Amino acid sequence: MNKDSLIKNLIDDGYLRTPTIIEAFQKIDRIDFVPEAARDEAYGNYPLPIGYSQTISQPLTVAFMLELLEPKAGEKILDIGSGSGWQTALLAQIVGGKGKVVAIERIPELKTMTEKNVSKYNFIVKVVEGDGAKGYELEAPFDKIIAAAAAAAIPKSWKEQVKIGGKIVAPIRNSIVALEKTGPNEFSEKQYFGFSFVPLVSS
Ligand code: SAH
Repeated sequence: MNKDSLIKNLIDDGYLRTPTIIEAFQKIDRIDFVPEAARDEAYGNYPLPIGYSQTISQPLTVAFMLELLEPKAGEKILDIGSGSGWQTALLAQIVGGKGKVVAIERIPELKTMTEKNVSKYNFIVKVVEGDGAKGYELEAPFDKIIAAAAAAAIPKSWKEQVKIGGKIVAPIRNSIVALEKTGPNEFSEKQYFGFSFVPLVSS
């Protein structure tokens, strides 16, 4: 599989729909985010190991979650569990120069991997080492929050740190939950089943 056929399949199967998200998939090349040894498999529609028992997410899952998040130019977005940095770079491409992406990763070597891989592109992204289960108070509030590791429930901190009208898209066990903040303490929620994620590890 090459990059164009991966993207075409994701469009044909209905996972990728929004022009700005499709453009990001075209511009941000997954091959720049997979380990050297896995380059031949960069366009496979499955997760790949990135070390430390973690994976670069499956393209289908990233497409599905980004379509639910609806990231837009100019927004400030928190990316929790940045790993390889692929999703971080996709988000940076979409929010553009007037927006901001803050990435948080708990494993120091993977935080470095995020920085190294994202620096292959001309984005300014803030990458923080820490426990994303607490969100990132210093940069709050966010327009959107997205997580790549599964918690048992959406942490209270994320609900507090997202703006009214903003969204949280995150894995909860083996499903994906999309929350929209409709009031200071009110959320609408949708849940999509049948996915698989590494756990959100919180201290
Ligand atoms: N979007 C990344 C996904 C990596 S897998 C990619 O496609 O490469 C999920 C990541 O979440 C792992 O790197 C893992 O170390 C990280 N993670 C798990 N729990 C975390 C936490 N509490 N805070 C920050 N990162 C966490």
